[in-house]
This record gives sequence, C-alpha cells and structure tokens, in this order.
Amino acid sequence: MPPVDSIAQKVFEFENTYAELPAEFYTKQPPRSVKSPRLIKFNDELATELGLDPSKLSNAEKASIFGGNRVPASSIPLAMVYAGHQFGGWVPRLGDGRALLLGELANRSGKLMDVQLKGSGPTPYSRMGDGRAWVGPVLREYAVSEAMNALGVPTTRALAAVETGEPVYRETVLPGAILTRVSSSHVRVGTFQYFASRRDVRSLELLAKHVQTRLYPETRRDANPELALLNLVVAAQARLVADWMGIGFIHGVMNTDNMSIAGETIDYGPCAFMDGYNSRKVFSSIDVQGRYAYCNQPTIAAWNLAQFASSILPLISSNHEESVRLATDAVNCFQNEFNDSWTEVLRAKIGLARQREEDARLAFEFLALLEGEEVDYTHAFRFLCDAGNQFREGDMIRDLFSKKDDIDSWMSKWRARLKFELVDESRRQSTMKRINPSCIPRNHQIEKAIKAALSGNYSVFERLVSELANPFKDRSADDAFFAAPRPNECVERTFCGT
Ligand code: AMP
Ligand code: MG
Repeated sequence: MPPVDSIAQKVFEFENTYAELPAEFYTKQPPRSVKSPRLIKFNDELATELGLDPSKLSNAEKASIFGGNRVPASSIPLAMVYAGHQFGGWVPRLGDGRALLLGELANRSGKLMDVQLKGSGPTPYSRMGDGRAWVGPVLREYAVSEAMNALGVPTTRALAAVETGEPVYRETVLPGAILTRVSSSHVRVGTFQYFASRRDVRSLELLAKHVQTRLYPETRRDANPELALLNLVVAAQARLVADWMGIGFIHGVMNTDNMSIAGETIDYGPCAFMDGYNSRKVFSSIDVQGRYAYCNQPTIAAWNLAQFASSILPLISSNHEESVRLATDAVNCFQNEFNDSWTEVLRAKIGLARQREEDARLAFEFLALLEGEEVDYTHAFRFLCDAGNQFREGDMIRDLFSKKDDIDSWMSKWRARLKFELVDESRRQSTMKRINPSCIPRNHQIEKAIKAALSGNYSVFERLVSELANPFKDRSADDAFFAAPRPNECVERTFCGT
C-alpha cells in the first residue's frame, strides 16, 4: 500500500464526487506500487490548467505519484464499474481493469476534471488481464490524445507518462508504463448500461444526477432533465463523429464502454488516421468485419446512443410507452444532427463560410475524387487551402490526382462557388489553414516513436509530440511531419492498447 504523501498533499487538492456515490459504483483501492518509476513526459501546460504548479514537484516526485507509488492525501483512488457492448456483444460487467481514478481537480474555469492512472495494476474488473500497460500504447495515447486536443477535437488528455521499471508480458516481454489521463468525466454509455441491466433505477438516477451536475448543468433546470441530457449527449456525439471524420480519424473500437457521456474521444486503442482517403478504411486488427470502419462511425454512434437511451428509459417517464416514444425521437435526431455537423465541417474544410444549398454535394464530390485514387486526405485539403480563387499554373492540388480532367472540372465548380463568399483569397486561405491540418498523428510516425523508445531513445517521441502541438502551421512539402508515408513505411494494422 503506497504511503499517503505529504508533499503531494500541498500540490493536489482533489475533490472526490465520484467516490461520494454509493459503493455499487466502484471498488476503492490504492494503486499497486511499481519497482522504479521514471518520468517519460509531463504535460506542464495541462498541469497548470488543472491548478497544479509543476515546479513544486521534482521529476522523481512526479514519477512516484503518476507511477502510483505515492498517493496524494486528498485522493480516494477507485476503479469504476461499467458494462458494455463489445463489437455488438453484451458484456454484463467490464469496469476499470487497469485504471484508477485518483479524483477530480478543478481547472482554471472551475470545472472538475477526472485524473486517472491507466496501467496501474489489477482491479476486481481485470478479468484475465494483468492491469498493466506497456510503453507502446502509453506513448500512442499520449501523442494522439494531445494531437486531438491541438486539432480542436474534444478528447481525454494526457498529463503524464511514466515507465514503471517492470516488465509487461505480451507476445514478448516489454517495458511497462502508466499514462495519467484527464477527462471531463470517465462515465460511459456502458456505465449507464451496467445499472440498467441490473434494474437498479436508484443508481441510474444518481448516475444521471452526477453527470448532469458535472457535465450538463443546464439540464437540471429542464422540465425533463433526463430527456434533456439524452438530447445533449446525442448532439455532442454527432459533433464529435463529424470532427473525427473531418481529420480522417478512425476510432477503431467504438464499443459502448468506449463512448463517453461527455462527448469526448476516449480510449485510444487501435485508433488511426487515414493517409489515403478510403471511406471503408479499417486499421484495427480485431475488427475483422469492418464494424468500426471510417464511414460506419455515425451509424455506430447512433446504435450506441440507442443503448444509452434504452438504459435511461425509467428516468425519462414513469409511463414506459411514453419513455420509449420520447427516447426514440431523441435518438432519431442523431442522423440530422450528424448531417448538419458533417456539412458544417466539410463546408469549412473547402473554405466556405456562407451557406448554400449545393455545398454538401460539392464537398462530397471532392471526397469521391479522393476516394477514386486514394489521394492523401490531409494533403488534398491542405493543398486546397493554397489553391487560388482563379486558375493558376502550379497549384499543387492538381499534382495529387492522375485524372486531371476530373479535378479540373471540380476546381472550376469550386471557384464558381467561391464567388459567393465575402472574403478575399488570402483571408479564405488563412481561415482554411486553421481548420485543415498540415500534420496529423500518422501511424508510421507513431510507430517510429515507439520503436525508438523501446531502444531507450525518447527524442523521437518528444519531437513528435511537439510537432503535433502545432498541427496547423505552414510546413513545406518535404517536411517529414507533413509527408505521407513512403510505401515501405505504411502501417496498415493497429492493435488494441493492452
Ligand atoms: P478496452 O478494449 O481498452 O476498452 O478494454 C476493455 C476492457 O478490458 C476494459 O474493462 C479494460 O479495463 C479491460 N482491460 C484492457 N486491458 C487490460 C489489462 N491489461 N488488464 C486488465 N484489464 C484490461
Ligand atoms: Mg475501454
């Protein structure tokens, strides 16, 4: 049992609103100590946002706290219980099998944020797992979640990465590591499903109240707060999935236990960004049927939301038929909400600020051209930023396509549409460049960083994280962080983050 920490006590002032919920919600337990924790990376900017002064802790202290060897006095560590549909199959009990919530810290705007160790040892929910993580998925989640944040996509964040100094046994022996993850809340669709499946209406009520207070306080004033909650969660997911698709992100494991009620991207297991555009793209090695393919993400989100809605039926109305009707209507809004969000994302990606009927079709035609030749998604939109409002020799976008007539004809339509915009070319270009990244966490770059780390060189990871923090800056065509992978660098398969 790690000692309660007096230095950390002065730095961390955890609140524990989840720990105040009844015992059915979690198992309280301290992290299991690790042999020799060593700090890989600490996120000073996020720490400061959480009211932590990074200079008050030495690296050794950070390593021992975020490695689970010392627990701040105000923390009440606990593993949350939840259930979920994994690849459509019901699992009645999952839960934090290798994670512990340390507590909640108020950020600069006064909002409580969960701070969770991931890879901190076994819990009653570990099933067959060892409760640990190896350094690969920890670096991957650190880099990708921080990149998502810089890209403006709602996400859990990474506060620290620590090597444990202990081996983890997978197919080979690998160095163990722990990620400290920060989120608005770790409550998932699967948390509601857990209590619903046990017909525990009182816990469902408490859970709904908890997320309303933490995440959606405006719902508390609504005539039907739980229906208002459902509507807001539907809208948040619609926006989130549209944001994902706008940057070519494929979550890879959209099980209901990996869908956050806060509408943040959570669980960076086998996720990946597309290089060449292919709407049916799948990276995850275990997604053999392509259930979580790029283009299926909206359908799956709606399916998951239907599970959320059915879990809270008893809270929406005491009349079951009425509950079903209200919840069905709410979930059915998803498609429109998603279409609106997706159109908005695409409109901005092709540089349109005003709204016209034909915009979505114009954008879809561009995607169809990309798909036909698997053109690099990031490059296509970035080169479109630079293209002129009038035809100009040497616009790079043309070079991406082999069917020149098709892209020329699309560009003419696009230029005709630009005439309805109110801003000039340079304004349109700079606005587009704040939406269309020049740098995304490409698989091959992440793999390179992990490979180097395994031989003790963390500088590749450091460099990657620092480039990803500035995803919109101008990069030359030969910049390694702009470039697409060469054929021999392509990474086509990703694996669960275990
Ligand atoms: P995921 O696929 O990451 O969403 O994980 C699904 C479930 O498996 C969750 O309940 C995790 O806590 C659990 N899990 C994943 N990896 C491990 C591990 N190494 N040890 C224990 N539980 C794990
Ligand atoms: Mg998960």
